[in-house]
Amino acid sequence: MTRTEHEVVITGGGPTGLMLAGELALAKVDVVIVERRIDQELEGSRAGGLHSRTLEVLDQRGIVDRFLAKGRAMQIQGFGGIPLDISDFPTRHDYGLALWQSHIERILAGWVEELGVPILRGREVVGFTRDDAGVTVELSGDTRLRAQYLVGCDGGRSVVRKAAGIDFPGLDPSTSWIIAEVEMDQEPTLGMRREGGGIGPTDREEGRGSYRVVLTEHDLEHPGEPTLQDLREALVAAYGTDFGVRDPTWISRFTDMSRQAASYRHGRVLLAGDAAHVHPPQGGQGLNTGVQDAVNLGWKLAQVVDGTSPDRLLDTYHAERHPVGARVLRNTMAQVALGRPDDRHQALRDTMIELLAMDEPRKRIAAMLCGLDIRYDLGEGHPLLGRRMPDLDLHTADGPTRVFDLLHEARPVLLDLGALGGLDIAPWASRVRLVAAKHDGAWELPVIGEVAAVAAVLIRPDGHVAWVGEHMESGLHDALTSWFGPAAAGHGLA
Ligand SMILES: Cc1cc2nc3c(=O)[nH]c(=O)nc-3n(C[C@H](O)[C@H](O)[C@H](O)COP(=O)(O)OP(=O)(O)OC[C@H]3O[C@@H](n4cnc5c(N)ncnc54)[C@H](O)[C@@H]3O)c2cc1C
Repeated sequence: MTRTEHEVVITGGGPTGLMLAGELALAKVDVVIVERRIDQELEGSRAGGLHSRTLEVLDQRGIVDRFLAKGRAMQIQGFGGIPLDISDFPTRHDYGLALWQSHIERILAGWVEELGVPILRGREVVGFTRDDAGVTVELSGDTRLRAQYLVGCDGGRSVVRKAAGIDFPGLDPSTSWIIAEVEMDQEPTLGMRREGGGIGPTDREEGRGSYRVVLTEHDLEHPGEPTLQDLREALVAAYGTDFGVRDPTWISRFTDMSRQAASYRHGRVLLAGDAAHVHPPQGGQGLNTGVQDAVNLGWKLAQVVDGTSPDRLLDTYHAERHPVGARVLRNTMAQVALGRPDDRHQALRDTMIELLAMDEPRKRIAAMLCGLDIRYDLGEGHPLLGRRMPDLDLHTADGPTRVFDLLHEARPVLLDLGALGGLDIAPWASRVRLVAAKHDGAWELPVIGEVAAVAAVLIRPDGHVAWVGEHMESGLHDALTSWFGPAAAGHGLA
């Protein structure tokens, strides 16, 4: 039997596991991914794009251009298929990016490889045991890995979640959908159907090639894997013809099961992504939420592993991300209801169409779907507190820059905008980057609109605001201690 030691073991090298590995590697954590698949190829299709906040998060790490170069920036946001334009949102990424999950994973895997994270491919986590000092992770092939922490990013059927004994309460499926990539002899009816689903070109850039089909199925339960015959029947039921469907590249199925882990943390074991929450794909939020889970968890776990922060910092991961996941479950349930074909649900849908044509409802729902409105509960105060820091243009002594550029290394930043007359953070100087800058323009937040300019702002590595200085330094040292550990010895502030 072989046994190797790491600081963190991640189970699952899907989008969530890859993003988390990148975050940990930036913080110099010794991390390894265990991935069942032998390569990054995906069977079937899954996510079709990245939302605005995820693009911002990738921008914060300096890698968004890799994704933008491969996808198509467009207004992809929708609530139950009702389009929502976000081109008036105050963000550099006032759009979504149409890009299939296979490409997203390939790009993330390339980044993680550059950062030197080992991925044990073709290996499976089959269980683990815990003690006071760490976790012993059991892999297929009679191998064990020892780590301080284990993170289950192993999808909806998470072995880690089950072995940790974490409940997964929620709703059983009420509807099944068949999804496939196929050729068709006849020109199909393209576009979304009123009842949800529809047919579109696989190559969204050129609008040609094979077709991607998503359709509601008659039955909820199925004895085996979906077949071409099942797809034909679903097409005939929806369109009265199967359009001469043939040569599927793949056929798959998904449901509207909605479940969320009761706890995202059980001691030294944590959950992120689909391992923590499953829901139907309406609104395209699963991958996006998982990537943002990873960005919330990564820096906290890194600080606990290297002893900068106490273990309880990890409790804020559940406290902040569980409500976000719960909200995603709730809005996907509502979207499924809007797709029901009966007259009453369609009347509700027509009402929603009217509502979402108004500015205020559109902004609120769209900001929720794309994650731009997330506010972690850091107490009362300036509207920026707990929200994502806008990517302001800055002037510094070294020349012009912008906020997201300062976050590339995934380290906290204290932005001193001059009005407080010099900030002293000497005891945290090795952990927090102090940047003196000026910003001439307005401060504007999605949904909320313009907010008062601030004199200083403490930004966490995930881009959320941990402290706002309006007139004085009050509370800064407390915020630094809460989020980035006690003052370094010798500074008399501990
Ligand atoms: C039809 C469909 C459409 C979707 N559309 C969208 C969309 O438009 N936008 C969006 O944001 N999301 C969408 N999603 C959801 C998205 O695909 C998932 O939320 C996303 O893949 C979750 O990423 P993850 O890394 O958390 O989990 P996964 O992608 O499930 O990755 C888990 C990884 O863990 C590995 N693994 C599992 N068990 C083990 C084990 N025991 N040992 C080792 N490795 C293991 C797996 O091989 C896999 O690579 C869609 C999903 C479906 C089904």
